[in-house]
Amino acid sequence: MSAEQSTKEEVTVQGISASQGIAYGQIFVYVQSDIAIPSYQVDPDKRIDEISRFDKALLVTRQQISKIQADVEKSLGKDEADIFDAHLLVLEDQALISETIREFETTGRNIETCFSAVSKRYIQAFSEIDDEYLRERAADIRDVAQRVLQNLLGQAENSLSRLVERRIVVANDLSPSDSAGIDRGSGLAIVTDSGSKTSHAVIVARSMQVPAVVGVRDLTKRVKTGDWALVDGYEGLVILHPSENTLFRYGKIQSQKKSFQSRLLEANRQEAVTADGVAVTLMANIEKVEEVAEVKQFYAQGIGLFRTEYLFLNTSRIPTEQEQFLAYKAVVEGAAPNPVIIRTLDLGGDKPMESNPNMFPKEDNPFMGYRAIRFCLDNPGLFKDQLRAVLLASSFGKAKIMYPMISGADELVRANAVLDECKAELKARGQAFDEKVEVGAMIEIPSAAATVDLLQKQCTFFSIGTNDLIQYMLAIDRGNDRIAHLYEPAHPAVIRTLKRIVEDAHRLGVPVGVCGEMAGDPLYAALLLGLGVDSLSMSPPAIPAVKFLVRAMKMADARQLAQEALGLGSAKEIFTVCDRFHRSRVMIE
Ligand code: PEP
Ligand code: MG
Repeated sequence: MSAEQSTKEEVTVQGISASQGIAYGQIFVYVQSDIAIPSYQVDPDKRIDEISRFDKALLVTRQQISKIQADVEKSLGKDEADIFDAHLLVLEDQALISETIREFETTGRNIETCFSAVSKRYIQAFSEIDDEYLRERAADIRDVAQRVLQNLLGQAENSLSRLVERRIVVANDLSPSDSAGIDRGSGLAIVTDSGSKTSHAVIVARSMQVPAVVGVRDLTKRVKTGDWALVDGYEGLVILHPSENTLFRYGKIQSQKKSFQSRLLEANRQEAVTADGVAVTLMANIEKVEEVAEVKQFYAQGIGLFRTEYLFLNTSRIPTEQEQFLAYKAVVEGAAPNPVIIRTLDLGGDKPMESNPNMFPKEDNPFMGYRAIRFCLDNPGLFKDQLRAVLLASSFGKAKIMYPMISGADELVRANAVLDECKAELKARGQAFDEKVEVGAMIEIPSAAATVDLLQKQCTFFSIGTNDLIQYMLAIDRGNDRIAHLYEPAHPAVIRTLKRIVEDAHRLGVPVGVCGEMAGDPLYAALLLGLGVDSLSMSPPAIPAVKFLVRAMKMADARQLAQEALGLGSAKEIFTVCDRFHRSRVMIE
């Protein structure tokens, strides 16, 4: 413990547990990337000072980038460090600098306003160039411009992807691309003022096995970079300046959890079969190509959900058909002989493509707006690139296609018509693909849940997206911490709807899985299996705990649990019977 830390009083802040685990370390306060830039007229006799302020900011930025480059070279090697050469070159770009000064001389506005306007024009121009290398420069300019603006405004640097030391990231909120930008191993834990358990940024944290606590309200205002804290992702607590006693207590808790975890991992090698002999299918949800390694590591029986939109986040341009093909092929081959359900783009909602703001204009209700299949059907060129890439990958293993946010049969008909066009195009090109590639629909909008019989005519499998289904059924924004307590997976309306979907699908002989976060929560896994779902798909690290439960329970009991739950009148009661079921089968330590 540092001397400074021992003088501060311990403070415990309650939030919402979003990803399990315990972390202790120093805080890094992440300031959101949209910098508010003040705009004002500069006094004519202060103009020289304004220009020297600009020169100084450029110099400080150069020093910062050189330091990061040296740090990265030490920790990751020369190749990784060379990436920063492109950033240093931006600072030497005479056109960018002299145009900023010209803008300042003509308008007399403060230098931040001028630099921001000029760099935005550059970013826009570069991102439209028909040359891959030059298009990628747009991201470099954006990154460097951000840093220069922060220096001009006297703000601390804030990019998560530059986080080299292991820190607890504390932010007002994180976008999915922010989370995905935290390198594995560089973020100790994630804590956000807002957000909820099923926000996409948190789903990414869980898949990285980083402890996360959300909904801690104004924590960013109460802490500063460098403060020491302990994050308890099990109970949703953040303990600022923890005392020796607290650290000792948590040390013990952590070693108990670790020994339980190693028992889980040991048991995870065994098959997913219930105590009364029923085999259960447990699959993996992945967001990045690299995660395919975890599919085998955690003994997943294939990939039940590949969220392909992450290929489109954290990048300055839209991946080409060939780039996507290589990514899908790597995943399909990595999971073979097991199947991979490749979900077509679910951009929009809380996953806009930040590098292409024109494609996703600001909306009042993004979750109910221009998202997923609606966006794809409206952008057929982009949709077709993806479908052809998936089709091409289908000849390298067992790929299936799944459409997100289907609200009715018409959308499925339209999506399948585009798929047919893609198949015809590949045939004309003489390129191979799996002619029998299966097509499925996500059931995550109440209107789809009510029309399973109509959707079934257009597809061969269903996957229930409980994250969205719950938000739309209960009218609870899944990312809003103020109403997070009302987001109840065990709400009777949800349980009844799940039962109806499964019954309707099975009557027509269509398999139905669940790929929302509920599937990876051992508290609800038995209920879902008891309701008759055919497979559960979850973030790979969630598999051991669910498999442990599966092996410890009887399917006959899970069915009885489902019957009992269906007869109860409140989420609280249903939660209680599920919790009791879980505790009685798995010794909680
Ligand atoms: C869901 O909605 O449950 C789902 C799996 O999709 P996503 O979380 O990506 O919206
Ligand atoms: Mg969804």
